[in-house]
Amino acid sequence: MHTIEQMLAYNREWAARIRDEEPDFFERTAAGQNPELLWIGCSDSRVGPDKMIGLPMGSIFVHRNIANVFATNDLNCLAVLEYAIDELKIPNIVVCGHYGCGGVAAALSHSGVQPIDLWIDQVRFVYQRHQRELDALEPEARARRLAELNVEAQVHNLCRNTIVREAWKRGQPVNIIGVIYDIHDGLLKPLGIEFRSLADWERIHVGRQG
Ligand SMILES: [Zn+2]
Repeated sequence: MHTIEQMLAYNREWAARIRDEEPDFFERTAAGQNPELLWIGCSDSRVGPDKMIGLPMGSIFVHRNIANVFATNDLNCLAVLEYAIDELKIPNIVVCGHYGCGGVAAALSHSGVQPIDLWIDQVRFVYQRHQRELDALEPEARARRLAELNVEAQVHNLCRNTIVREAWKRGQPVNIIGVIYDIHDGLLKPLGIEFRSLADWERIHVGRQG
């Protein structure tokens, strides 16, 4: 276990190393951000995006919460999305779930009234919508499949959102894609869920629930 003092010492070394390698790095990044990606992922300590997709600091605008939910009634989610699209004009949004997600496991195992239970209810609703398919699976496969279906549901929540829809209507590029991260091999797998326009989404979505 590292102490806070060790972390601060590391930070001083890191900042010095960056200044050696790229003397104008902090001056340049302090001038403003121009990220190319909004990442919506799980808070799980093993699934931070910075290392796994190799983009430099300043490239990813991040929103993480338990079980990578885009909750349409959550002010935090909405503020991040609004800033990402209306101010930063970020063209790509990734919703990343992961296998081995504790939030997904909790959605399958119990319910309650504590804050975490109420948050996880949003994943439990996804389970309920797909209960027949999921209940036919063995427990591990069920959790993996629910993690995938949860990503799909969150992508649809984004596509339903006024901020995204208005951007699409005015022709602003917003590409939304769902992926899943496998903590066992470090690979990100696209789930075949990707929308680039309102017409794109409505073509798939008409007559079904996400
Ligand atoms: Zn998780």
